[in-house]
This record gives sequence, C-alpha cells and structure tokens, in this order.
Amino acid sequence: MTETSNYTVELFGKPLAAMTAMVREVNIAKGWRSADGSTTNSFGDYIALLHSELSEALEAYRDYRLADATAAYDRELERPAKPEGVGSEFADVLIRLLDTCDIYGIDLAAEFERKIAYNWTRAFQHGGRTLSEGVSA
Ligand SMILES: [Mg+2]
Repeated sequence: MTETSNYTVELFGKPLAAMTAMVREVNIAKGWRSADGSTTNSFGDYIALLHSELSEALEAYRDYRLADATAAYDRELERPAKPEGVGSEFADVLIRLLDTCDIYGIDLAAEFERKIAYNWTRAFQHGGRTLSEGVSA
C-alpha cells in the first residue's frame, strides 16, 4: 500500500491563488510588472531573482540568526519599517516564486500536489544522500 497525504489541492489551491493575485496586484501597482502580463525579464532573470532572495535569507541568518530584525517604525520616512530577517526573506522567495509562476502560467498548486503525491511513493531517505551526520528520523 502506498502512503499518501490527507491534503488535496482544494485545501491550498485557493489560498495560493489569492496570494498570487495579491502579488500580481502589488507588482503591477509598483511598476514591477505590466498590467497586460508582458515582461522584459527573461526566465533566467526570474531564476536569478529567486536565488538572490535565498542569498538574502542566508545573509540575514548570518547577521541575526532567526530573530526578526525589523525596527519598530521608520521615523525618518514616517511609515512602518522594512521587514528584516530570515522570515522576511523567505516571504520574498515565496512572492517571487508566485510571481514567476503567474507570469509563465505554471499552476503551482497542481504541481505541488503532484510532487507531494510522488514523494509519498519514494523510499525512506531515497538515494541516501543526506547532509546530516546522523539519522534524523
Ligand atoms: Mg529580499
């Protein structure tokens, strides 16, 4: 018998679609995307931007570990301060991933569900290529 998840795309597909709509809306409003969906960036540009957010997460970890380093308020600009820290950078990764999938018409919820279903069919620590020194489970 194959193990499976109890979750289905119906559970997270709608929230993901809503989050994608939020990303699309702010990126169009702030000039990062055209309203007609066209882009001057290449696919490679979007991949590089995803990498850059992961690198920012590493730098945030080096500076603050997992602490939220966001200041309470930006008094100079009189607005909420820019979020800083690993959590904020991971949010940037998700924002860029949702944006990239939206631009290229990739149904991330469906791809996620398909990959999770496949992962359930794989052997425990398939391939044996772990990073840790000991068995974790
Ligand atoms: Mg960032």
